Amino acid sequence: MVKTYAYGFPRIGRNREFKKSVEAYWNGKIDEKTLSEELDKIQKDIIANYSEMDYYPVGEITGYDLILDTAIMLGLYGNVKSWKDYYDLVRGKNALEITKWFNTNYHYVVPQIDEKSEIQLFWNKPLEEYKKNKSLKAIPFVVGPFTFIKLSKGNKNFGILKEKVKEVYLEIIKSLKDEGAEFIHLDEPGLVYELTDEERKFIKDVYSDISKFHKVIVITYYDDVEKDTLSTILSTPIEGIGIDFVHNERRNFQNLEDLKNLLKDKILISGIIDGRTVWKDNIENVSKKVKEIISKLEPKELWISNAGPLYHLPYSVEEENNLHPSIKERLAFAKEKVKEITYIKEYLKGNKSVLEWNNYKNDNSWWFKEEVKSRIKNLKEDDFTREKPYNERVKIQSEILKLPKFTTTTIGSFPQTEEVRQARLKYKKGEISKEEYNEFIKSKIREVIKIQEEIGLDVLVHGEFERSDMVEFFAEKLQGMVTTENGWILSYGTRVYRAPIIYGDVYRDKNLVIDEITYAQSLTKKPVKAIMTGPITILAWSYERTDISEKEIAFQIALAILDEVKELEKNGIKVIQIDEPAFREKAPIKRRDWEEYFEWSIKAFRLASKASPEIQLHTHMCYSEFGEIIDKIYKLDADVISIETSRSGGDIIEYFEKFNYDHQIGLGVYDVHSPEVPEIKTMQKIVERALKVIDPKNFWINPDCGLKTRKWEEVIPSLKNMVKLSENLRES
Ligand code: GLN
Ligand code: ZN
Repeated sequence: MVKTYAYGFPRIGRNREFKKSVEAYWNGKIDEKTLSEELDKIQKDIIANYSEMDYYPVGEITGYDLILDTAIMLGLYGNVKSWKDYYDLVRGKNALEITKWFNTNYHYVVPQIDEKSEIQLFWNKPLEEYKKNKSLKAIPFVVGPFTFIKLSKGNKNFGILKEKVKEVYLEIIKSLKDEGAEFIHLDEPGLVYELTDEERKFIKDVYSDISKFHKVIVITYYDDVEKDTLSTILSTPIEGIGIDFVHNERRNFQNLEDLKNLLKDKILISGIIDGRTVWKDNIENVSKKVKEIISKLEPKELWISNAGPLYHLPYSVEEENNLHPSIKERLAFAKEKVKEITYIKEYLKGNKSVLEWNNYKNDNSWWFKEEVKSRIKNLKEDDFTREKPYNERVKIQSEILKLPKFTTTTIGSFPQTEEVRQARLKYKKGEISKEEYNEFIKSKIREVIKIQEEIGLDVLVHGEFERSDMVEFFAEKLQGMVTTENGWILSYGTRVYRAPIIYGDVYRDKNLVIDEITYAQSLTKKPVKAIMTGPITILAWSYERTDISEKEIAFQIALAILDEVKELEKNGIKVIQIDEPAFREKAPIKRRDWEEYFEWSIKAFRLASKASPEIQLHTHMCYSEFGEIIDKIYKLDADVISIETSRSGGDIIEYFEKFNYDHQIGLGVYDVHSPEVPEIKTMQKIVERALKVIDPKNFWINPDCGLKTRKWEEVIPSLKNMVKLSENLRES
């Protein structure tokens, strides 16, 4: 029997209602009750989008983040009684940490848990939400116990925690059963990691108990599930399992084989509609796959579903008015992906007309360029290696740049004030001309150069005032990529961004950053660092095309960046920085896939950054666990790297004890996410610790990330202290 089930529909809302309501509450424009009502409306809208499904989840709405809600549900944060208490946890001085959710650009709130944590049911959110939206089709949504603990931080003892969480989940499941829910959705993407025996024992023990009481379906996604984990979870009395068959492709649908003897009489929720790409799925191919799954596995019931939650996609293609018709007609955002699920079911019933879904009227041959492809084909090993090794380059560069020891610099952006945002908006709306806008940007560049000279920084930047976003800006200029008008997706909390779409071969046919950089350089004798976003980050924070490999897309972007590097050189620029904050995040979920990924991603960076030996080439990374990939970072062969360390509390320094990092490095001396002006003493301690493992002659002094979110009043005194610190260090 074939049924349909979609999950993870974006809570952002068609017109960013989520962001608007929550921020209105924060700004005191609406009260607690109104905020609750607004969120209920959004939940109803999500359900409306699922209306054609046989089943759908309820309770996917949240005021901020679902992992945070689960932590409150389990009583980890005490007496959270109001929205005020709730937002106190994530805003302000003692805000909980956030980190990247799997290999995506969504950030979840990281709970703290250890063996002493008191765990008891504090908030039966799943029941409350179910009561509000009861129906025969509604399945209460609950974050699964394993994923919750797996993603928490702290001294976790699965053995002890097991008993504690089990009780809470039992209570929730029983209450939902009593309320009349037929199934319960336990969201368990954590099962796709490579798990330890201890973790599998946890899963076995917890699920054996909690799924005895009612029909539990366990939903996994983002990757395949290892066979041992599959047999563990399927040996418990769960009612059904959700498998990501889209991302199974990379392992030749191994799970299809694994499930053969394991599935027995369980429901299979087959994730078959790609929840991570914006392209329409091919209804015919997907239907074939569904038929193959049914005939191979003969599940008790098969539910057609999406692979991965739909919130990585914008709300609907209907909102886009400026896309080229050949692109627009091939796109499917969240709303359209749900439609695809229905189409597949109809198609399997023999309704042939649904093939119209993939009938495209507009030619798209102009998306592809032979020259770009052949340039990739003709790449040689040489293209990935700079002409001279680091120890020779560094001599040439220091002759040219003559920089003092403990060189000071910043990461690139300076405050994006209301004035800057307003000017950009006016320009986009056509209220000011291109010339006026450029003049405005130039005036900002003049200001920021003057300020940096006054502060006494050594390597200057132009401030990045012309950039709305570090990826969108490049996507607007490069061929083969487009940006959307209303394709907002949540990054964390109420922060949204629009990921560009890579539709064709990517190349550069006009200047990207040269105009602003050369202008900035003309104003000062000090070197101005040209800053660009690197190929891995542009790839990671965009929607990809699916007809060629990620490696090939990354190489195309790398060549476009390289073309700009060469032009910058011709224009006399001596210092270039290629940012790669997504280098770690883009790494696959399973360690066994790392080798392949790092092989091509390192090459992509090296291709983009193959500047002449005279050019001092920088890179920058932030907000990831870098310790375990220092060897990979070293292989990028950048002359200088600036890296954020506040996130890992300086733990990264330990790793440098084990790895002899002998290129130049700036470990951020203060956290740009805090409005506080750092004291010289505090920064000095950080430097002293670092100098135990890093040669002073290689050490740079810089903040840990870009300053765009800060205010000028904070930035100026902070940088002054930083420069003073460097002067002290030079003296001693
Ligand atoms: N150059 C960028 C900036 O300074 C880097 C941003 C980032 O690393 N996320 O804002
Ligand atoms: Zn950064």
